[in-house]
Amino acid sequence: MLFSLPLSKIPTHWYNILPDLPQPIAPALHPGTRQPAGPQDFATLFPMNIIEQEVSSEKRIAIPEEVRQIYALWRPTPLRRAVRLEQALGTPAHIYYKYEGVSPAGSHKPNSAVAQAYYNKQAGVKRLATETGAGQWGSSLALACSMFGLECVVYMVKVSFHQKPYRRSLMHTWGATVHASPTKHTHYGRKMIEAHPDSPGSLGIAISEAIEDTVTHPGTKYALGSVLNHVCMHQTVIGQEAIDQMELAGEEPDVVIGCAGGGSNFAGIAFPFIERNWHRNKKHRLLAVEPASCPSLTKGEFRYDFGDTAEMTPLMKMYTMGHDFVPPGIHAGGLRYHGMSPIISQLHHLRLIEARSYPQAPVFDAAIQFAKTEAIIPAPESAHAICAAIDEALDAKAKKEKRVILFNLSGHGFMDMSAYDSHLAHKIEPI
Ligand SMILES: *Cc1c(COP(=O)(O)O)cnc(C)c1O
Repeated sequence: MLFSLPLSKIPTHWYNILPDLPQPIAPALHPGTRQPAGPQDFATLFPMNIIEQEVSSEKRIAIPEEVRQIYALWRPTPLRRAVRLEQALGTPAHIYYKYEGVSPAGSHKPNSAVAQAYYNKQAGVKRLATETGAGQWGSSLALACSMFGLECVVYMVKVSFHQKPYRRSLMHTWGATVHASPTKHTHYGRKMIEAHPDSPGSLGIAISEAIEDTVTHPGTKYALGSVLNHVCMHQTVIGQEAIDQMELAGEEPDVVIGCAGGGSNFAGIAFPFIERNWHRNKKHRLLAVEPASCPSLTKGEFRYDFGDTAEMTPLMKMYTMGHDFVPPGIHAGGLRYHGMSPIISQLHHLRLIEARSYPQAPVFDAAIQFAKTEAIIPAPESAHAICAAIDEALDAKAKKEKRVILFNLSGHGFMDMSAYDSHLAHKIEPI
């Protein structure tokens, strides 16, 4: 069952949750002085128009027309009711999913990549440097840069560089330069290779390399695919559309679920619903799902930490595994980040959202059950949300209650078929 919206229903504004938070997030700290960081401390990395968004107290920020026109290539994205999955589970629950895999890069990430490329272009930037885990963010930024005529250089975590060769091909096709991180191109990369010649890399290391590249190349700025406030905000087009689509379906979700790496796709579906809890007296539960092998929200500490391994970024107060944590090479590469968005961390600290973690094997079982019933092959990251949605549906069945479940299917798994092969051959690590 499909609930589709006309082009005119692409949101006109992003929702900035910052001014609505019951308690503000702690300020970022300068990595040297450990004093609250001002806009100037971010200016080597980001153009001023993005920094202004990062700290904005405006609740609604207009989406530039050029960005909306590019969104219109794949937005509004579909929202469907998973009737066949409900039947297979024998649950009285209704399961809905918002499908972000229809974007050209196959995930939610272009929602922010396009916006970031646009603002950098406006600010006169010529080249963007970034890191990527599974390659989803790198391919999204490569796509966005090609739309606006910017150069793009991507530091890709080494284990994914080899596991996901076709993501690399996507980036090349859209014109980006891609390096396997740790690389020999940066001082920090060379240091890491000397210390650990077999390092599989990590997002933290790749971020350090992209930042070093940025500060050593004039005309270059840095782009981050998750975690930061402006990235979470760009993703709120997802939840705003979902609210309109649930209205078409004539239901309200009891629980809204998203997987969480750095937190932006969860933010995208959840924040507009949290706003309704605060201002319209609704009682939606919000559930973030993460891998058991990188459980920042469920097992991490809530404290100040660096965003990268080399301690170059400002410190942010967030749930973290520690900035030198190197998670195992699970297939959900997009969920291998040591920290969590400071906003989502704050919401969890205040107990305004829930969090849960799952090991890899049940996540792939859920992915396969979804593929066999709803036909779409999900990204391993998104399968974490499916796993939680199935658990919620089975819990509703056990309690004989009607529960309306909405989850964000953040991407398709066409570039992850080797992970499916490993699972089907029972070779997946039970982590
Ligand atoms: C990157 C990615 C995620 C994780 O996103 P965050 O916004 O960092 O939490 C989830 N699903 C897919 C398909 C991804 O590519």
